[in-house]
Amino acid sequence: MKFDAVVVGGGHNGLVAASYLAMEGMSVALLERRELVGGACVSEELWPGVRVSTGAYVLSLLRPKVIRDLRLYENGLKVYMKDPGLFLPLGNAKSLSIWSDTEKTSKEISKFSKKDALEYPRWVKFWDQLYDLFDLLMLSPPVDVKSLLPSLSGLLSENLEEFAQVFLKDAESMLRERFESEELISALIEDSVVGTFLPPSAPGTAYVLAHHVLGEVNGVKGAWGYVEGGMGGVTRAMERAARSMGVKIFTNAEVDEILVKGNSVTGVKLRDGRIIESKVVLSNADPKTTFLKMLRNAELDPSLLRRISSIKSRGTSFKLVGYLEELPDFGKGKHLSPEHSSSILIMPEVKYVERAYSDAVSLGKSREPWLSINIQSALDPTVAPSGKFSFSIFGQYLPYAKDLDDIKDEYGELVLDKVREYAPNFKPARYEVLTPLDLERRFGLWEGHIFHGEMTPDQLYLFRPIPRMSRYSTLINGLYLCGAGTHPGGGVTGAPGYNAAQQVIHDLKRQPL
Ligand SMILES: Cc1cc2nc3c(=O)[nH]c(=O)nc-3n(C[C@H](O)[C@H](O)[C@H](O)COP(=O)(O)OP(=O)(O)OC[C@H]3O[C@@H](n4cnc5c(N)ncnc54)[C@H](O)[C@@H]3O)c2cc1C
Repeated sequence: MKFDAVVVGGGHNGLVAASYLAMEGMSVALLERRELVGGACVSEELWPGVRVSTGAYVLSLLRPKVIRDLRLYENGLKVYMKDPGLFLPLGNAKSLSIWSDTEKTSKEISKFSKKDALEYPRWVKFWDQLYDLFDLLMLSPPVDVKSLLPSLSGLLSENLEEFAQVFLKDAESMLRERFESEELISALIEDSVVGTFLPPSAPGTAYVLAHHVLGEVNGVKGAWGYVEGGMGGVTRAMERAARSMGVKIFTNAEVDEILVKGNSVTGVKLRDGRIIESKVVLSNADPKTTFLKMLRNAELDPSLLRRISSIKSRGTSFKLVGYLEELPDFGKGKHLSPEHSSSILIMPEVKYVERAYSDAVSLGKSREPWLSINIQSALDPTVAPSGKFSFSIFGQYLPYAKDLDDIKDEYGELVLDKVREYAPNFKPARYEVLTPLDLERRFGLWEGHIFHGEMTPDQLYLFRPIPRMSRYSTLINGLYLCGAGTHPGGGVTGAPGYNAAQQVIHDLKRQPL
């Protein structure tokens, strides 16, 4: 078999890249090792009628251009906005909700600080002003910073310095400069540590926060939502789009090796021995899996391999997925309330996160992890039969280790005990724990890192995945990277896939196949 381009991996970025290449009239094969496409953005029916998002669980970052170009709504995507987006139970009947309506949120905040209630609208405006610029940066390949400056100063005349700081600063001081209430700071700080093996006091975490607040749902900036049917609803719509554009999708098709002759790619060899020829191969797998596994027989410069090997990518996030038979009472009662459909955050103060982090460094796990609980069926009836409520708990820190299987059952119980401190009736009928080791096995993520590598300043933009490979092409002719390990990084954005496809199209115009 021979194609103009082969995409290794059917994560959402692989699907996006394949679709844009097919739109240009190229013949494209997409090869996915699992039985379903979607990578870390899938729904899986783990119990009869109960569908859970085993990887990503909420949507916001998917670029509107990708939604439009791939006609994802027409292909079945439907998103329910969470409102409140966040609910922070604080014990003793105290809580804080963050709504999409700024005024309503300020009113909530005024329970804790009048000054913060006045400051909050400015915080929302700060991010609103950055939205268009961020969208532009995400959907463009990295360029050298000097050539970027004129467009930055044009778009952001007022906040240029503050914006520049976002890339380097720590989230804790960024928030403490603006707010005084520990409750509000805790609610806002989660975004700065998601997927990251750092505490919020570490430089670079302000960018992780920015990455998570500059999205939108159904036109509402900064909002997050549940995809009908679970996150697989995104990748099912992408799969339909890709097929309708002529992409040939093969599942249960694990690539054993990317074939290279001289310094040019010639195709791929599947685990079953089949060879697919192509002068263009895009890998949606993370950079370490691509270079250290699939290119193991290629003659690569040892210094390149050293650089790839040293990409920081130790996963630290875990999940519990399952279902309940009654709604939990987090202080607002067992009857369905708006808070049940929000992300319920167990993160009572910043010190709590710092402790969780230092425990993980010294003990290999947080004794008291921070947790984000999402009960999708509170908004979306399609994910569980009536009377059952599917849930996902995302938490940190449980750093990747080869022996995580030995502790996972016990750790799952510890997590549930922590949830029950806030909602004593949180008693899942069934559940499954996914440690970083499980995420590696299930999704093919190197050391279970949810973003294909840390999103720290040394691994962003021109340095993602490594310097000299930040524009999707690699040092091997015809081989490209198109996954979250490239700019602009992790999350269900579609941006790396889009940018990588544009780079391939650009290169082919100069050197036709
Ligand atoms: C537990 C978890 C929670 C998350 N929560 C959120 C969230 O709520 N919202 C959000 O926006 N983001 C979230 N993320 C991050 C987000 O899901 C990922 O960053 C994103 O899905 C990465 O997409 P991708 O297409 O680049 O790569 P992936 O989704 O990793 O896809 C890569 C694909 O390549 C395949 N592959 C690998 N090796 C081979 C091979 N040899 N042959 C063939 N195929 C291969 C894999 O099976 C996989 O399908 C979460 C991730 C995880 C794991």
